[in-house]
Amino acid sequence: MLLENLSAVYKRMSHAALRAGRNPEEVRLVAVTKNVDAAAIRSAIDLGLRIFGESRVQEARAKILNSALRVEGTSVAWHLIGHLQRNKARQAVELFDLIHTVDSETLADSLDREAEKAGKLQSVLVQVKLSHEESKHGVSAEGLLQLLERVRSLPCLALEGLMTVPPYYESSEHVRPYFRRLREIRDDCVDRGFRLRELSMGMSHDFEAAIEEGSTMVRVGTAIFGERRP
Ligand SMILES: *Cc1c(COP(=O)(O)O)cnc(C)c1O
Repeated sequence: MLLENLSAVYKRMSHAALRAGRNPEEVRLVAVTKNVDAAAIRSAIDLGLRIFGESRVQEARAKILNSALRVEGTSVAWHLIGHLQRNKARQAVELFDLIHTVDSETLADSLDREAEKAGKLQSVLVQVKLSHEESKHGVSAEGLLQLLERVRSLPCLALEGLMTVPPYYESSEHVRPYFRRLREIRDDCVDRGFRLRELSMGMSHDFEAAIEEGSTMVRVGTAIFGERRP
């Protein structure tokens, strides 16, 4: 089941990249493991998955510290893809290789302070909110440049790119404009001198459109592990 799912996801990813004239190797798969148990994650590691995304610090912590998920000679990266509260900044720095969800200067400042204490250069993405949904997090397009300036000025944060979570639409064609918009915003920021190599966008039902629009990291849960149990 896992093998078939994963193989289908890789095929969809590479076909989408090729359709867009991109090298499939430019797009990395972040396997989203919220509500997925350690046994399934272990199987995914054994199948070669190396990047895992978690939404909540507490849940991730139990998995990251689980010795059954430490495989000799294999290094696995953990990404935080869910909203981060400032009071969890220390734990987030301790646990995650990449934090996708920096959305305010105060959070950036906290992460920088904790990274300094930990003697770590913390890689981060800035989350951009392109819709007006109350439930979504992220800095507005208008506030982005100021936040990027701040993140870039912090010595213990490494700014790697941008991330977005668009509104949910059944059809990925309705989501596509959000992906395109994030890429345009990224290109504009790059023209202004920011180094933003990564675009984290695309989930199970819409990652092909995201890849066609320039995604470098797709965050895929359901298509790999099946429907999540609540
Ligand atoms: C859960 C989640 C995903 C994965 O969603 P699927 O539809 O299961 O692929 C991706 N990104 C974020 C931010 C998530 O919370």
